[in-house]
Amino acid sequence: MGRDPGLLPGGAVDPTQVPVQRARGTGRVAALTFDDGPDPRTTGRLLDVLADLGVVATFCVVGANVTAPGGAALLRRIRDEGHALGNHSVDYADLGSASLEEVEAVLRDNLRIIRTALDDPEAAVPYFRAPNGNFGRTGPVAAALGMQPLGLGAVIHDWDACPDRTVATIADHLRAAISPGAVVLAHDGGGDRRTTVEAVATVLPEKIAAGFRFTLPRGGGPPHPRPRGGRATLGRPAHLDQEQQ
Ligand SMILES: [Zn+2]
Repeated sequence: MGRDPGLLPGGAVDPTQVPVQRARGTGRVAALTFDDGPDPRTTGRLLDVLADLGVVATFCVVGANVTAPGGAALLRRIRDEGHALGNHSVDYADLGSASLEEVEAVLRDNLRIIRTALDDPEAAVPYFRAPNGNFGRTGPVAAALGMQPLGLGAVIHDWDACPDRTVATIADHLRAAISPGAVVLAHDGGGDRRTTVEAVATVLPEKIAAGFRFTLPRGGGPPHPRPRGGRATLGRPAHLDQEQQ
């Protein structure tokens, strides 16, 4: 790890090289993750929905979207409203066959892009998810850089290749995906994901009424700081400590 010796690790505590795809906690808990943003069409509305419901999520962001117009402001909102960050590569190039050195360069570059946008060289980025879920050699590199690799978890078929991305259909997928212990993969970028966000707005109140709590994926950082904005809360730090794998 010769380049950029001043770069601080992402903040995951004892990350595993093997991707995790379980939520912290027991019982009716699930961890929502949103990939491929930020995107001015959707991320702001999504943050409004999550804040209104007091739900925290993990945003696995793409550097090219952070540096695009509006991206940095949305990233700051994500951080300020108490959500967790994940590194989802600089430009979404597939890393499935990349060398260790290539993976390391991409992960470091995106970590730097995220922290520059946040104007915080110590900002926590405790998760990593490989583009397309093609992990290749990324697991050991992410772990060495202090980021817990995330598996795909439960998908909701909300990306461009999926034939039916109406709110009703995505909501059905989301209802099924939010099950005890699940890490749920949804998208707030990578294309027009407005129907995903409306499905989230529809389904989360149902799940909350059914007793679900929304947490972070296992691994990652220490108990999340109390959100500074919105109404989102993550519960008692001691509780989260106990839930850590
Ligand atoms: Zn993605």
